[in-house]
Amino acid sequence: MSSPLPDLIDPWRAVDAGAEFEGACPLSDLPRLRESLREAVGEVGYRLVFARDLEGRGILRGDIEARLVLTCQRCLGALVWDVNAPLGLALISGLDEARLLPEELDPLLVSEASIRLLDLIEDELLLALPQIAMHEPGECVPPGWEARAEGGEPVAPGAPNPFAILGVLTRGGKG
Ligand SMILES: [Zn+2]
Repeated sequence: MSSPLPDLIDPWRAVDAGAEFEGACPLSDLPRLRESLREAVGEVGYRLVFARDLEGRGILRGDIEARLVLTCQRCLGALVWDVNAPLGLALISGLDEARLLPEELDPLLVSEASIRLLDLIEDELLLALPQIAMHEPGECVPPGWEARAEGGEPVAPGAPNPFAILGVLTRGGKG
């Protein structure tokens, strides 16, 4: 079941109400993420469940799923990056509370009376991006390079013969 995501919610009231949000939104609605995408096609699916845990903490659990298309920094081709991120966030109103959280909970600092769930979803997707988008080693080569037929290191076009360089150095050394 899909319900439209409210723009702003009061997270503490959502905790008390046990609010749940489930649905999908287009990736093109996420401007900060879009900058990292090769093409902003597809959707991000989300399930967000607010609750209070046994210690009385406000908790947001759920998961976020998306298929992102990034640009490989080696071959500059398209790289499909699947995100399936479980959420385990504890609402906190001050940073000192973050230290008290168990390991499985990440802090979600709520400094204002309301939060924008779409921003939260976008933040989680940004966190799930690779530091450097790249295909697996050996799966691609930089543009203009050709992979050696029998594996091994790819060869750059017009790369000088290393022995030729050695010859230059040796001759230079004599002068
Ligand atoms: Zn690549």
